[in-house]
Amino acid sequence: MKADEILGKSPLDLFHPDYHAVIRERMHELFEGSPHVAMLEEKIVTLGRKAVDVECSAARFVDEEGPAILIMLRDISERKRLQEQLRRTERIAELGTLASGMAHEIGTPMNVILGRAEYLMDRVTEEPIKKGLQTIITQVERITKVMNQLLTFARRKAPERRPLDLRRVIEDSAEIFQERFARSQIHVEMALTDSCPLVLADADQMSQVVINLIMNAVHAMPEGGTLRVGLAPAQLMVELTIADTGHGMPQELSKKIFEPFFTTKEFGQGTGLGLTVVKGIIEEHQGAIAVESEEGKGTTFKVFLPLASTS
Ligand code: ADP
Ligand code: MG
Repeated sequence: MKADEILGKSPLDLFHPDYHAVIRERMHELFEGSPHVAMLEEKIVTLGRKAVDVECSAARFVDEEGPAILIMLRDISERKRLQEQLRRTERIAELGTLASGMAHEIGTPMNVILGRAEYLMDRVTEEPIKKGLQTIITQVERITKVMNQLLTFARRKAPERRPLDLRRVIEDSAEIFQERFARSQIHVEMALTDSCPLVLADADQMSQVVINLIMNAVHAMPEGGTLRVGLAPAQLMVELTIADTGHGMPQELSKKIFEPFFTTKEFGQGTGLGLTVVKGIIEEHQGAIAVESEEGKGTTFKVFLPLASTS
């Protein structure tokens, strides 16, 4: 920011409107005689109209030109980002503890309900009662499914990382979906580089990643489409691509998809934990995941994992 770009402007022009009231109050305090005002977190607006988190304190002083106010700003966006990341990690860890506790508390009575419902099912002949019981059974099974997914999430055992050929993991995981692909008219294109370098990763976790991403792609193409799976070296990483030609998603949505319990699917269809787990695993492996999507066109997930050896 150059001096002539701000000269003659009100200090308020540089601060985010949300803070104008509090800043006016602080300026008032200074003019009323208090020598300085305490540190406060605020937002400033840069000349490029970007909001930046800053820490701000101000002091009153007098020089040869008369009374003046010195304002000190420190950019705290990096600190804010780290705090947010930590908060999120803690929330996920808490969720894990909560989940295992809940799984026990809920799992036991659910089994009793399921057992009774099945017992009665075998003993009644009236159709409406049978239908009611079937609903109970289906719903209990749904709850159990969500609980189990929470549990896998909570019980994240220490990963065993060894040099791993992702090609095998991809082929084995895709195998599970063969029938589903055929039924949903999904055409699969595999572009797996021959003798792609090995990554240092836990095999079970990697198949969890691949399965979750493929499953989401399948869900996004209810009317069929193309699933493209790619594997290729990318500098000191291996790049795994899973792309679909499904319904895609708007940009606001793609920012939220990694959040726990974020789902756009009907109850029982999705738990909103798939991508949370995927992201958690990738980050534990010092990797990265990115998503690109266009509404009505499709979605591409890219996963980057570090090589087993860089020599
Ligand atoms: P779930 O699949 O249980 O809903 P996920 O964490 O796997 O939970 O995904 C969260 C949300 O992200 C989904 O509900 C969906 O809205 C969106 N999403 C994920 N993958 C895709 C995809 N390939 N195409 C379109 N939307 C997707
Ligand atoms: Mg999912």
